[in-house]
Amino acid sequence: MKQIDVCLTFDFDAFSVWIGTFHARSLSALSRGEFGNVGANRLLALLADWGVRSTWFIPGHTADAFPGTVQKIAQAGHEIAHHGYFHERAKGAEDERRDFDRASAVLERITGRRPVGYRSPAAGLSANILNCLLERNFLYDSSLMGHDFSPYYCRVGDQAPSDGPFQWGRPTSLVELPFTWGLDDFPVFEHVWTRNGVNPGLAAPSQVYEIWVGDFDYLYNRLGQGTFILTMHPQVIGRGHRLLMLERLVQHMREHEGVTFKTMAEVAEEFRRMHPIP
Ligand SMILES: [Zn+2]
Repeated sequence: MKQIDVCLTFDFDAFSVWIGTFHARSLSALSRGEFGNVGANRLLALLADWGVRSTWFIPGHTADAFPGTVQKIAQAGHEIAHHGYFHERAKGAEDERRDFDRASAVLERITGRRPVGYRSPAAGLSANILNCLLERNFLYDSSLMGHDFSPYYCRVGDQAPSDGPFQWGRPTSLVELPFTWGLDDFPVFEHVWTRNGVNPGLAAPSQVYEIWVGDFDYLYNRLGQGTFILTMHPQVIGRGHRLLMLERLVQHMREHEGVTFKTMAEVAEEFRRMHPIP
């Protein structure tokens, strides 16, 4: 029997990705983040039409900038998860902890709930943040790529010295719901210039559809069981031609028996129930 969980996840980065990751300050760059709010509202309408609940990874900076939209997302029954404050990479234990708690506090103030899940901005999970997640009793992370369609338990204490063999750490209670750039809309669609180079982006939706549906069909037809996690950004997927592609993909998935749309927290809780913590 087929049993496929599908998680539609949205990283609502808004301004923060341009400030934190790309260090851009022009009004044009910031306005790309502002469009994220337009995309978010379009997505909320689509999700309501489909009757699908999803998971939104929201930086504290976005929640402070668009509290009304974040409330609307939470009130529609979607899961709100942690995505840092400024969308920055690791910068030292003390700063990381402070930003982490600042972002949690903002989300709790606006939605009335503490997040239980985390995704590292730009997939840059640090050992410091992993420890933060464990100390604060988080349920899951979604920043690692050690599998594609199977959740697993995160380890602490892995060592990868450049002059000796890899050393395995010990597993923890934190569930990993794996991420992959291949199922992320940003690299394929977003046209970005930086000092270090150009990401051309602007792919045809048909090309991206082929990649995304290919992974889904492999999971469904060859494996039959697993979790399909799609990572999208309202400011990216929220453009018309891409939303039409997403509609087509969701339609395709819904035509398959045994496919259930779930939030990340639901999948992580089920994983813990089925696989006792080692
Ligand atoms: Zn992000």
